[in-house]
Amino acid sequence: MKKLKNKGYTYTINLANAEDDGSFACPKCNTSISPEDETENNYEIIDTKIVNNELTELVLTCNKCGCTIKLIGFHQDSNA
Ligand SMILES: [Zn+2]
Repeated sequence: MKKLKNKGYTYTINLANAEDDGSFACPKCNTSISPEDETENNYEIIDTKIVNNELTELVLTCNKCGCTIKLIGFHQDSNA
């Protein structure tokens, strides 16, 4: 049985471990990806999960290597 177009592996990035501006390197090809980058040249958002009006999960595709990356760890309030 054929699956949907799925490369079969999703990397997970916890933004609590990312840079202060939320940028991180693609785990596969090391392309710099920043959620603040509104041009989306380096990535494309494919799914978001919002709970209580807050973004809790963001799934994106790296446009360089095509891998799927799941971002978690939003709103940690670590510096409140
Ligand atoms: Zn990549």
